[in-house]
Order: sequence, then structure tokens, then C-alpha cells
Amino acid sequence: MFKRETKDFINIDPLQTGGKLTEEARQALLEWGDGYSICDFCTTGRLDEIKKPPIHDFIHKQLPEFLGCDVARVTNGAREAKFAVMHALAKKDAWVVLDGNCHYSSYVAAERAGLNIALVPKTDYPDYTITPENFARTIEETRRKGEVVLSLITYPDGNYGNLPDVKKIAIICSEYDVPLLVNGAYAVGRMPVSLKEIGADFIVGSGHKSMAASGPVGVLGMKEEWEDIVLRRSEKYKNKEVELLGCTARGATIITLMASFPHVKERVKRWEKEVEKARKFAAGMEELEIKQLGDKPHNHDLMFFHAEVLYEISKRAKGGRFFLYRELKSRKIHGIKPGLTRYFKLSTYGLSNSEIDYVLNAFREIVEKYS
Ligand SMILES: *Cc1c(COP(=O)(O)O)cnc(C)c1O
Repeated sequence: MFKRETKDFINIDPLQTGGKLTEEARQALLEWGDGYSICDFCTTGRLDEIKKPPIHDFIHKQLPEFLGCDVARVTNGAREAKFAVMHALAKKDAWVVLDGNCHYSSYVAAERAGLNIALVPKTDYPDYTITPENFARTIEETRRKGEVVLSLITYPDGNYGNLPDVKKIAIICSEYDVPLLVNGAYAVGRMPVSLKEIGADFIVGSGHKSMAASGPVGVLGMKEEWEDIVLRRSEKYKNKEVELLGCTARGATIITLMASFPHVKERVKRWEKEVEKARKFAAGMEELEIKQLGDKPHNHDLMFFHAEVLYEISKRAKGGRFFLYRELKSRKIHGIKPGLTRYFKLSTYGLSNSEIDYVLNAFREIVEKYS
């Protein structure tokens, strides 16, 4: 057996805090772990039409309701969902506008789809905001170079946990007649989010990041008007959707997503509590002169910190810049990348109040130990 040493640690790795399995999903993983297990009851050759287990109900009813969209699909990840949309909308010499805080996978998906890429600049230290004004300006400038077939906003971004004014950005995009994709890899499954309320065209989520699924698995929601384009069928295999390569999550990945879904629907209702905890944590870090960057007060569990104090320690500590990782590990805290001290991100999602205190206290001890 491959052992996982960090399994019982307090986890503050933003990638992992929202992807921890529920007990239901853990059991489902064992039950459905065999390859292609989901295909037992597939009669029409379409994943989304399987009635038992109730995938049809999940994809055609529950998921659209949850995402506030007309049409939904399950993909192999957030990136696969973004790529499917980009590839479907791509044209020769066309452009996509991405926010300057976008995830690398948005950029790479656009490259793979053969699109030219324009980036909306973010504001400077310490806010790193994507403003609607800069979004509008970038679309305006890019339009002069060629057709803009899609724009994308990361909500929130995966570095600072900033939540841009997505409704305003959606209005701007519709004024320019450019469809907008909301990348909610860190939103869908953590906080309430609705495509209709935002007023955008597409929404993307990540099951293993924010929906308590083992994955890789993602979700894609869209307005009805895009269905024929993004979900167009194969000429030869009439029931297969081309951009999804026929079938996507075909086994334990979708089953764990579904098994956790009732819990996920409930937990997003407690989002305010998560924001409260994050703010409390940020305030505690600031007491140690570790500065929280980005939106302030913060509105998300993913936070980015600037710690000159830890950086100074790293210059003289034994083990140099790996001291922080080692100190946290010895306290069974996992999630800050080995070697980082000056700038790092973390997430307080799902931590109890006493765990928050424990992590804060660990930072305090570490700072004091080396002062
Ligand atoms: C993690 C992340 C992704 C990638 O999600 P996958 O489901 O693994 O493809 C995309 N965008 C953002 C903003 C992310 O943080």
C-alpha cells in the first residue's frame, strides 16, 4: 500500500480543503472503483442518460438548479470544461480575453484551442484587483485586433482569493456582445453562485477542488442558447457530443461527486461562517505582522499572505527557507508549499474554530521561537 503521511494533518492547502470526501463519497469510491463501473446500466450510449444510479436526474435537474443555468454537463475537470467551450467557439485568428489573475489552465486551454490571448491587467500590490474598467478597456483594445469570441473571469482567482465584480463584468461583456465564462473552480461547491444571477453565459466548477469529489471531475453550466454549439453531436455517432469526446467522467469520479452533492448543497448555505473564519484568521496573522493581500476585508477562504518576518527568519534559520514547512509539519499542519516563506497562500475552508486557533498559534510560536 502507498501510505499517505499527511492524511490526518490539519490541511490548509487551498487545492485540497474543498475536495475532502464526505463519508458517503468515501464509501461510494469503494463501491464504484472498478473501471467503467458506471456503464453497467448505460443503454443509450450517453452518460447523462443513465437512470440508475440517477445520473440523468443529477445532470439534467439537480446540477442546473445548483448552478443556476439552463443546461449542465459533467466533465473531467474545470480545465476540460473551459477547453470544451473555447474549442467550440474558436475561429481562425480569433481572440479570447482572460483576466490577469486567471489560472494557468485557462491560458493553456486557450492555447490548445488555437485562440489569441489578451490579458486584462490586475491592479498593483497589495490589492491585485480585476476592475470592470480594465476589463472593458481590454475588450475594446482587443476588438481592434480581431474578433473576440469569448471572455473569461476567474471567480475567485486561485492566488489571492479575490472576488471581482462579476455582475458588472457580465454587463460589460454583453454590451460588447462577447460571451462570458465564469471560472468558479474555487466558488462552485463552496459558496452560493448562480449563472443567472451573474448574467454570464458559462460557468465552470471543479469537483475535486470544491465539491468534495475524488475526481478528476468538473461541471459545466451554460445558457440554453449555447447548447447547440458547445454540445453539438457527432455526424456519425448521433448520440455523442463532440466537445466532450462522447463520454466524460465514467466511473468513481462522477459517483463521488453525486454522493457528496447533498452535503455540498447544504454546506454552501453556511458560506458566511467560512468567510467569518477566514477574516478571523487573517486578523490573527496581521497581529504577527503577516499581511493579507488582495480583497480586504476578505470574502473567501483562500488567502494570500506577505510575511517579511518569516522571510527574515529564513535567512538565518537552520534549513533556510524550508524551516516554515518543517515547523508546520512537526505540528501536523499541511498545505504551505515547501520552501515558501515570504509569500504564500492558504485556505481555512472547513476548519473548525479550534483548528483555526491551533494554526494561528502555530504561526505565533514559530515567529516567537526565532525572534
Ligand atoms: C484549480 C483550478 C483550476 C483547475 O481545476 P481542474 O478541475 O483541476 O481542471 C482551474 N481554475 C482555477 C481558478 C483553479 O483554481
